[in-house]
Amino acid sequence: MRKLVIVKLGGSVITDKNKLALANISVLSRLARELGKSSVPLIVVHGAGSFGHLPVKNFGVSKGFYDETQKLGVCRVHYYCKELNQLVCDELIKNKVPAVGLPAFSLVRQKNGSLSRFNTELVKEVLSEGLVPVFFGDMTLDSTRHGLPCSGDKIIAFLSNVLEPERIVLGTDVDGVFTSDPKTDKNAKLIPLVTPDNLDQVLSSLQEAKTPDVTGGMKGKILSLLEESRKCPIIIVNALKPGRLQKAIEGKETVSTVFRLHE
Ligand code: ADP
Repeated sequence: MRKLVIVKLGGSVITDKNKLALANISVLSRLARELGKSSVPLIVVHGAGSFGHLPVKNFGVSKGFYDETQKLGVCRVHYYCKELNQLVCDELIKNKVPAVGLPAFSLVRQKNGSLSRFNTELVKEVLSEGLVPVFFGDMTLDSTRHGLPCSGDKIIAFLSNVLEPERIVLGTDVDGVFTSDPKTDKNAKLIPLVTPDNLDQVLSSLQEAKTPDVTGGMKGKILSLLEESRKCPIIIVNALKPGRLQKAIEGKETVSTVFRLHE
């Protein structure tokens, strides 16, 4: 089997992060076309965007659930996240990508916010059948806090540790990692390459995203994938710009930030 690429479709790209459960169908459909052209085996992971972050806040379940109202909230968040996953899989299948939605709620268990169990055997079997697993930011059970959100980035970190992909491509709504948030600072400069030499400087310049994101914006993303970036390249691209995600998947150069921390 040719080496695997793990691709993330950011919640900021495929949803309108400020409007409850609103998908950007035209962007999603163009990205599905790009993924449909891939000759490399893929795992797709998508964020929950406004299908996850807003309801998690509204139902007060970001730190676990303890009462009946929160219990229903967890179910509602999971329902919304699956709804977005259905839309993503629909677009992928239309573009001849054999996509199978795999809810973290069914395959993953957390312990105090860290993934403690993951049915990766099933993921391997899905891949060996030539299918494309499509994971997504979701709620999962947590043995200490009953249930917690599990970000797509956390899922990527766990899977890449087990499956050793050739590269990880993160599609987001900015051109890569900047010296500061490019949405609020017009002097922010893109950092094309992160190596052990400038890693500390890059980490200290990251701030939280301004959008309502319970999983930590660009900073959360980088921190949850830091260990993985020591094993394979991580390429962060603007998936709102046509063609960039596809180029990064194929290992071609495009405007991006490349984390190259491994030997
Ligand atoms: P996604 O939903 O695509 O996974 P997030 O919204 O979680 O992405 O994180 C991306 C956001 O992080 C960007 O839209 C940007 O506003 C914000 N951000 C904050 N600091 C930075 C930075 N230094 N470089 C790039 N983006 C940043």
